[in-house]
Amino acid sequence: MASSQNTSKKQIIILGGSYGGISVAHQLLKHAIPDLPDNTSYEVVLISPSTQVMCRPACPRAMISDRILPQEKLFVDIVKQFDQYPTSNFKFIHGTATKLDHQEHVVSIRRHEGTDETLHYYALVIATGATSKSPLLGLSGDASELRARWADFRKALSQAKSIVIGGGGPSGVETAGELGEYLNGRAGWFSSKLENPKVPITVINAQDTILPQLRPKIGKQAEHRLAKVGVTVINNVKVQSVVPDNVGLTVDQLTSAATISLSSDQKLTADLYIPAFGTTPNTSFVPQPLLASDGRVKTNATTLRVDDAGPFVYALGDASNAARPAIHNILSQIPVLAANIKRDLLLDSSAKSQATAQDVVFKEDTRETQLVPIGTKKGVGAMMGYQVPSWVVWLIKGRDYWLWTTGRLWSGKQWN
Ligand SMILES: Cc1cc2nc3c(=O)[nH]c(=O)nc-3n(C[C@H](O)[C@H](O)[C@H](O)COP(=O)(O)OP(=O)(O)OC[C@H]3O[C@@H](n4cnc5c(N)ncnc54)[C@H](O)[C@@H]3O)c2cc1C
Repeated sequence: MASSQNTSKKQIIILGGSYGGISVAHQLLKHAIPDLPDNTSYEVVLISPSTQVMCRPACPRAMISDRILPQEKLFVDIVKQFDQYPTSNFKFIHGTATKLDHQEHVVSIRRHEGTDETLHYYALVIATGATSKSPLLGLSGDASELRARWADFRKALSQAKSIVIGGGGPSGVETAGELGEYLNGRAGWFSSKLENPKVPITVINAQDTILPQLRPKIGKQAEHRLAKVGVTVINNVKVQSVVPDNVGLTVDQLTSAATISLSSDQKLTADLYIPAFGTTPNTSFVPQPLLASDGRVKTNATTLRVDDAGPFVYALGDASNAARPAIHNILSQIPVLAANIKRDLLLDSSAKSQATAQDVVFKEDTRETQLVPIGTKKGVGAMMGYQVPSWVVWLIKGRDYWLWTTGRLWSGKQWN
């Protein structure tokens, strides 16, 4: 039976403990709660299915071997990051939101142990992100589950003689590049491709070139770099079906051999198939009228409020339709969202006069920006509309897949 919480506190409930949720929690605890009158009456409640957070972009490398990316550097305990704040202002719940009733200001949750509960929120932030098709490419439950999947994958990888990857976007290309370099090594300077790779890897891409968010010339360069680690790209073709069903999609079928039928009528067989295209927003608990047609939460793209849900409801990150799903967009959304929550809280308090006159406004940077490592040494990409050389991609992303940035994010130092 579901229980409901008994608290006199004004709870600011944040759903999702990753880039969006953790950062908003830090921002509010540092810059909003201390400025509110009677600030011990506010409690930030962070709800996450995982007790640990991780640098998700690192999955294509981290899933292969600890030798190239050690897990102890990757997974970070969430609760420890919030030790620095008064215990009266912060609570972590290991659980998942199962239903939102925005009319009643109530969110239902299932705790990790399996008990159900309803929480009344004063303010609500939806930061539940999106799930990749492949269970190897992100957290969908606890971090321990992801580590167990990687262990299974590594065992299968040691026996694999061929790999097919569905999707020529950044996840597919990065996964192919990491696997190619790890399993096959890299062709020499004067060879355009690696002949007879130990484990041939094929990327199936539905468009003319891979990496469709970058100019085609960069996609072509990525293709050449992939060829050097034993990866072949088939363009303008879609994965039509995979037999047996669900290969690569479910934990049970994660490492089964597969026959992949393509829209070109070609059939490929592979010891491992990794579907690396498309994501599903984690919004099944959100009422349909609050969702856009793509399943993301309909969010006011300037204020980051969910206007249709009534006051004090906000969304950001991959679960929201305010911007293209990317970490640089989330990092620009966080100060805006936190400032607007603070304003709303002040306006609803005895310190109305302290509130800023206006909302802070979010504006998405739509310039061509994407960095795509191809193995541990090379890469392609563009930043703020300018193509960057391979060594810049390596320096910023490829050498450790952003780990140099995540320590400050998880600890909140980024927002001091
Ligand atoms: C392989 C890969 C590489 C990437 N590389 C880059 C990159 O280089 N640069 C870049 O900008 N972006 C990159 N991205 C995208 C980036 O990872 C996402 O934009 C970012 O993780 C989104 O952050 P988020 O906080 O919105 O959600 P997520 O990181 O998806 O986290 C959401 C959290 O909410 C939890 N959750 C889900 N449902 C519920 C629920 N009902 N209740 C409570 N919690 C819930 C999830 O378990 C998860 O922990 C990459 C993505 C992938 C898959």
